[in-house]
Amino acid sequence: MMARKKKEPRPDVVPFEIPDRIEMNYRYSYGGISPFFRAIKEEAKLLGSRCARCKKTYLPPRINCSQCYRPTKWVPLGNEGTVITCTTVYYATSRFFSKTPFVCAYIRVDGADTLLLQNIILDEVTQARPGIRVRALFRPERKGEMADFYFVPV
Ligand SMILES: [Zn+2]
Repeated sequence: MMARKKKEPRPDVVPFEIPDRIEMNYRYSYGGISPFFRAIKEEAKLLGSRCARCKKTYLPPRINCSQCYRPTKWVPLGNEGTVITCTTVYYATSRFFSKTPFVCAYIRVDGADTLLLQNIILDEVTQARPGIRVRALFRPERKGEMADFYFVPV
């Protein structure tokens, strides 16, 4: 049997490539943190998760405590919190470039022990600074994703 010869591209046919796009529909499962996203979509509420043993409260939620590895339970949280740190984004990918400048902040929502990374919408981005109080606002049309809500100064 003859060994197969590696096929070389024809020198007169150089592949020509152009950028293209593939779209596909799929279902993404949130798994154990589904109640968090369901509450955002269906009730416009923030849920945290609390460890039954050490009482640490997580937002974003975790299904198991990172301190003692016990399963957590869902707890409703308020919609206000404090900015711990923030930055202003002036350059972004094409999807978000039209929204620049915008503010991303780590926010400690009241009742939570961890920080949630989320956007703050303000008239003037220079108003954002650590220590300011903010409130979550939910968009009227929600899909069950983080972009369904944002924060504004109280
Ligand atoms: Zn714990």
